[in-house]
Amino acid sequence: MSTHWDLTSLYTSFEDPKMEQDLASVKQEVKTLKKWFEENIDNKRLNDADKIIHIIKEITAIRFKADRYESFARLQSATDTMNQVAQEKLNMIEAIEPDITELEIMFQDYLSKLDDLDEILTSATLLEEHGYILREMVAKHQHSLDSETELIIAKMKNTGSTAWTKLHQQLLSTLQVDLPAVYGLEKETKPISAVRNMAYSPDKSVRKRAYESELKAYEKITLPMAACINGIKGEAITQTRLRAFSSPLDMTLFYSRMDRSILDALLEAMREALPLIRKFLKKKAEVLGHENGIPWYDLYAPLGEDKTKVSYEDAKKIVYDNFNSFNPDLADFAKMAFAKNWIDVEPKAGKRGGAFCSNLPIGESRVLLNFDGALSNVITLAHELGHGYHGHCLREEQLLNRDYTMPIAETASTFCETIIIKSALANWDDQRRFAILNDQVTRYVGIIMDIYSRFLFEEALFEQREQSTLSVNQLNDLMVSAQKEAYGEGIDHTYSNPYMWVNKVHYYYVNRNYYNFPYAFGLLFAKGLYAMYEREGTSFLPKYDTLLRATGKNSIYDIGQSVGIDLTDATFFRGGVNMIKEDIEMLLNLL
Ligand SMILES: [Zn+2]
Repeated sequence: MSTHWDLTSLYTSFEDPKMEQDLASVKQEVKTLKKWFEENIDNKRLNDADKIIHIIKEITAIRFKADRYESFARLQSATDTMNQVAQEKLNMIEAIEPDITELEIMFQDYLSKLDDLDEILTSATLLEEHGYILREMVAKHQHSLDSETELIIAKMKNTGSTAWTKLHQQLLSTLQVDLPAVYGLEKETKPISAVRNMAYSPDKSVRKRAYESELKAYEKITLPMAACINGIKGEAITQTRLRAFSSPLDMTLFYSRMDRSILDALLEAMREALPLIRKFLKKKAEVLGHENGIPWYDLYAPLGEDKTKVSYEDAKKIVYDNFNSFNPDLADFAKMAFAKNWIDVEPKAGKRGGAFCSNLPIGESRVLLNFDGALSNVITLAHELGHGYHGHCLREEQLLNRDYTMPIAETASTFCETIIIKSALANWDDQRRFAILNDQVTRYVGIIMDIYSRFLFEEALFEQREQSTLSVNQLNDLMVSAQKEAYGEGIDHTYSNPYMWVNKVHYYYVNRNYYNFPYAFGLLFAKGLYAMYEREGTSFLPKYDTLLRATGKNSIYDIGQSVGIDLTDATFFRGGVNMIKEDIEMLLNLL
């Protein structure tokens, strides 16, 4: 069995003639469909249902081949980042993207002119199956502007928000931090990313000096960074108004297919988790010798060292066995992924870092790992296979019904992680349990507490930005008060981090405002589902698959409804919060 993934079910290589054929036919079919639009869309003698069916079939065929082509190039590039051919192929398919988007906008235009769409959608199975996304296209159309204005906005964006995003990236990635000769350490200069990693150092002097130097370094760039965030958020407000949304949050929720009442229920449950997380931080502070809560520089300080190593064969066995005790279908899926070489395992020169799973249009998945034997790699393997299983459940859905929104994206992965963690906590020795709990609880601090502070910050930022641009001091003040509200007595506020707005890229993504709550939703949604499984046992299993299959063609509310959950009620999320609380209590006991 190879530890390098097998991509031959896409194409045999870049020389595979099928690859060129796909690209050529995508180009041809885009042209043909555009011509068809011009000649037939206003033809009254043609039936509307037939027109829509034709367009859906054509767009599906185009998307399928374009995705296959793009996936192959992207996956090749992931294991060989310097591969020029892969880059060229990616550029080639990217160049066609605007033409496909144009077709989709023409389709939107046409659909929104039909006053009997609901009736038409009941006239054929294919139309019924695509009902949600077709109605969503009409709803999106209500928030789009005439094509001339859209073109102007797109062009102005290039010199506006997109330029600010680039400047932010450049300033941050080139920021050098001077680390002075203090606490018995030698003077040195390091890039900001390396300095931020020092937060995980077992040496307190290293952590403290890194934190102090990081804040000092930010002072050199706060002025342009404030200009970036003011520019990006100001543009978001202008677009919100032009597109007739009541607020940037409203716009984000719309594109996330999520109701405000679901967000409110989520936030309510998050707030209920805060006191216990604060208690943990205070306990951690005590262990590290602090009296007034934890200083920012010790938030990620390791508690004890984890020396356990796991082989890939052992990791596979742990994952398989635990999946099998949950649901044999999930275990079978993992077995197939192992047997068919869907996983690229080891780190190697030129391979990108981290881990991801890519669900392919052909109904298969590929997982990239950088397996180095750390215990956390077992969790990562389960996480990525969870994404794969999500794709596996969606594979029989229509291609256009397989895309889900950000808040839903981490459901299946977090669920699979939880399967492993639950079993680990029941069966492993204290040292391993401690390591795994410590990892988890550190994640909760980030995903519940820090995310809550980021949400509060962004909300306050938009509110003030409506009135005027904000100064560096105003931005710092907003950040400090958001941290106070979220972290409370958990941290020592004489050592907080007023510059988190400089550091977090999430505030600087043009089309993704409030890129924070989806993380918390993902965690609590998955944990809430797991709590349901604990209550209902095996009768939960078919519901879980039904839910995953529903993710690409429903609102988040209806995804919940498909298995009888009311997501506007905090009770469901509370189930997830209780699971988190159990982990924290267990860690507090081990401390
Ligand atoms: Zn993930």
